[in-house]
Amino acid sequence: MIDLNNPVIRGYLIRLVGEEGLEMIKNMPEGEVTDEKITESTGILLNIVRRTLFILNENKLAVCRRERDSSSGWLTYLWTLDMSDIEPQLVKEKKRLIKNLRTRLAFEEDNVFYSCPEGCTRMKFNEASECEFLCPLCGEDMMFEDNIIFIKKIQKRLESLEN
Ligand SMILES: [Zn+2]
Repeated sequence: MIDLNNPVIRGYLIRLVGEEGLEMIKNMPEGEVTDEKITESTGILLNIVRRTLFILNENKLAVCRRERDSSSGWLTYLWTLDMSDIEPQLVKEKKRLIKNLRTRLAFEEDNVFYSCPEGCTRMKFNEASECEFLCPLCGEDMMFEDNIIFIKKIQKRLESLEN
């Protein structure tokens, strides 16, 4: 089973199926199950369970088997999670995260920021100067914001992803 606490895996799955979808994956019963059974044991609404299963199936992370009841003729859909193919998807996800972080890092490094001490807004120097360094929302004096700690955070995150 994959590590659902791994931030890349978690982030990827949340982007794919949302927080509730991730909850469903975490609490999914073992073996082949119907969508109703998943709803029963996870407490997640049936339409969300169905939507999550559909998305997982499209991304080759869940398989579905149809079974026909010989007497009634009804079809039953049996679902199993299969995360064995997630690795190539995670490699792509990592690349996407690294690209976004690099863009963010360059933006932080190339600009000087001012922010409202009340937390209303954050602006680049030229935008703040257009507002005469007054917060357009509350009128407070905007303060120079040293973003070095934030930059270091992004760099650390990049390092850990690139390893
Ligand atoms: Zn303000």
